Amino acid sequence: MICTEKSDALFAESLKHIPGGVNSPVRAFRAVSGKPFFVDRAKGAQVWDVDGNEYVDYVGTWGPAIHGHAFEPIISAVREAATSGTSFGIPNPFEVEMAQLIKTFFPSIEKVRMVNSGTEACMSAIRVARGFTKRDKIIKFDGCYHGHHDSLLVKAGSGALTFGSPDSAGVPAEFTQHTIVIPFNDEAAVKKVFEANQGQIAGVILEPVIGNAGVILPKDGFLELLRELCSANDSLLIFDEVMTGFRVARGGTQERFGIKPDLTCLGKIIGGGLPVGAFGGRADVMSCLAPEGPVYQAGTLSGNPLAMAAGIAALKSLESGEAHEKLEALGAQLEEGMRGAAKEAGIPVTYQRCGSMFCGYFGNHTVHSLDDAMKCDRDQFAKYFHGMLQEGVYVAPSQFEAGFLSTAHGDAEIEKTVNAATKILKSL
Ligand SMILES: *Cc1c(COP(=O)(O)O)cnc(C)c1O
Repeated sequence: MICTEKSDALFAESLKHIPGGVNSPVRAFRAVSGKPFFVDRAKGAQVWDVDGNEYVDYVGTWGPAIHGHAFEPIISAVREAATSGTSFGIPNPFEVEMAQLIKTFFPSIEKVRMVNSGTEACMSAIRVARGFTKRDKIIKFDGCYHGHHDSLLVKAGSGALTFGSPDSAGVPAEFTQHTIVIPFNDEAAVKKVFEANQGQIAGVILEPVIGNAGVILPKDGFLELLRELCSANDSLLIFDEVMTGFRVARGGTQERFGIKPDLTCLGKIIGGGLPVGAFGGRADVMSCLAPEGPVYQAGTLSGNPLAMAAGIAALKSLESGEAHEKLEALGAQLEEGMRGAAKEAGIPVTYQRCGSMFCGYFGNHTVHSLDDAMKCDRDQFAKYFHGMLQEGVYVAPSQFEAGFLSTAHGDAEIEKTVNAATKILKSL
């Protein structure tokens, strides 16, 4: 067993001061009945805990670390920006550069506003969609996670799902009465809701590839149908690409699947590891925002120079397309190895992947929806998780989280991971 003495002591202390000992629920390892390790430092594809244990990291700070940890161009950009001041609350040139850069990656975005988290991006996108259409109802899908704000925290994925509370306490029913939730990939259900609510749907928000209930791909034609129905009903199609943006392709799911949404929510990679989010899209919709229009939205730290500098460095390193070629190849390599490991061990694992995002579900059925994901064997996953940690491989501590590769991963990491998986799966 690896030594976790210092992590355990820190966690015991943390529990006295922070609810559950953590500042975001999934970090507590409760879904796998464990205790978190505390990180000392990270570099590339590796993380070291305070007890000196080394792990190959497939969490990548939950998505942002597409270039691996402590990526030199990001560190130097932040260092340099910091010497000129850490926050101004006055427009700075970085904000213009960031907006221009986002538009080159996402041609559907004509105007964009920066915020401080993915939660804020989704919350604000919903508000501007409602303001623009002058309608209240929003369609969302089971298992999609759009952050922890009131109107979208229903049947949500990620931690909310992991802890069996996809509907949070503390959210008045009135706040979610305009949110219609339907199963992902269910064409008949979407058609029915549009028919029953004619002239009332402000927008449809979704993770076009779900990454907060494992990894769930849209069935052929599903995104196209949503696009058609939104256009036909003057409703806005909102892609929450906080996780998939800059990840599954430079221009996210919309580039990979060739669908143009009206609004897009961004986060994670866009901050290079600093707290950043953004939402943008059609100019006529975005112009409804204050000070141009009547929809209020603001932020003291929005467009923060350190965050912009980090994000710009992260995005520029994706511009040439080489990074995504590498990520795609690594994704395929890992998939092949992991499928082989499961087969050799005789354990049914359904491996689902989109580029460098992946999930191995413990079960032998394809996962098209949250219901399918719920049928997986979570006890077996928990054993696998702890076994992998002992072998020096850190995967997300929940069956319902995606794994992420970075450009810092390579043959050595994948080999270590596949060998570990083969050993652990055989022991289950
Ligand atoms: C992470 C995530 C969010 C929330 O972003 P935060 O920065 O954690 O607030 C929203 N939507 C999706 C798809 C996400 O993956």
